[in-house]
Amino acid sequence: MNGRNATMDKCAICNNDLPISKEDTLVINDVPENTFNFTTKTGSLQVVSCKVCGSVQLVNVPLSHDYDVVYRSIEVSVSYREDKKRQIKRFVKSYKLHDKCMIEVGCGNGQFLDIIRETGVSKIVGIESGKDHCSECSQKGFDVIHGNIIDVLKTKKMVGPFEAFVTFHYLEHLPNPAEFVTCLYKTVKPGGVGLIEVPNYDYIEKNNIWLEFTKDHRVYYRKRTLCYLLAKCGFSIEQIEENNGGICLTAVVRKPDSSDADFASMKNQIKKDIDKFKQLIERLNGSFAVYGAGHYSQLLINMIDRQYGIKPLHIFDSNRQKVGNKICDVVVEDREETEKMRDCNNIIVICGLYNDEVCRMLSSLNKNVIKWG
Ligand SMILES: [Zn+2]
Repeated sequence: MNGRNATMDKCAICNNDLPISKEDTLVINDVPENTFNFTTKTGSLQVVSCKVCGSVQLVNVPLSHDYDVVYRSIEVSVSYREDKKRQIKRFVKSYKLHDKCMIEVGCGNGQFLDIIRETGVSKIVGIESGKDHCSECSQKGFDVIHGNIIDVLKTKKMVGPFEAFVTFHYLEHLPNPAEFVTCLYKTVKPGGVGLIEVPNYDYIEKNNIWLEFTKDHRVYYRKRTLCYLLAKCGFSIEQIEENNGGICLTAVVRKPDSSDADFASMKNQIKKDIDKFKQLIERLNGSFAVYGAGHYSQLLINMIDRQYGIKPLHIFDSNRQKVGNKICDVVVEDREETEKMRDCNNIIVICGLYNDEVCRMLSSLNKNVIKWG
């Protein structure tokens, strides 16, 4: 073994084995021990890229004791702050969040809370692990919950669930991203939205920005990595884009409405369609042929036969391979047979995607052609 050690590390995002060979590991020495507070102490970083989800993460690097405290310096750049304000404004406007209850997870000393308030959002709450930061936020008049963020989100010591959340440059600091994103998922109401921003590894890699590596960015995300993580935790992705010249990756997500999952609407539609089909047959006095022997028509014919004992007089199809087979004991006939049909005047077309084309083809027949679906 010429790699790091004999223990196989698992990817923090997808749980697959991380590469262990020397060739697959980037080692960076002389890295300051602390990213945000000045120190002369240094250490080494070992960086690997997961071959499955594409995440780039640190291995064998101890977690900083204050890893979950958010330090920001956005106010030193007027143009960066203006960019962020425009971005938040767009998010608030697109999802009509002005009078909705929003939470910023990892709010630091309130620099983004200030911007959010400036965009006109009336109800905004922050969570922050740094005590001094919380005091600063309170002094500015913000409602901020203090504590380890995962603990706060899990214990629900909050007013939520919220209609929206935002989290800026925080996810990359966390050693267990899936746990964090799952907590975010539980924090918003079904149908609620969120904005997540991280450094963009696609850009860092393309431009070889090796100075970006720090002990406190535990995981870097490519676009596909972030999509993977968000989908794994239940979110649907509304939008994902590069910002600030490419260095930031911003995803807007939605928590799907729970009613999507129980097929209520689909179950209702099955019942409605079967009733509608039966009524149609009654209007035709039970005399009908079906054009189409594909899976749409097979399913419908099977169901109507089993539930009501109703069968078509004929079934036609353009596909010669289907001719001669039987659906509910009715033999599938070739399309040319439609012209010879004398015992029935009604043809119901059940051909899915090809419905319009088939209806046009049958229009010269002098029959009552009915398109289904
Ligand atoms: Zn992975």
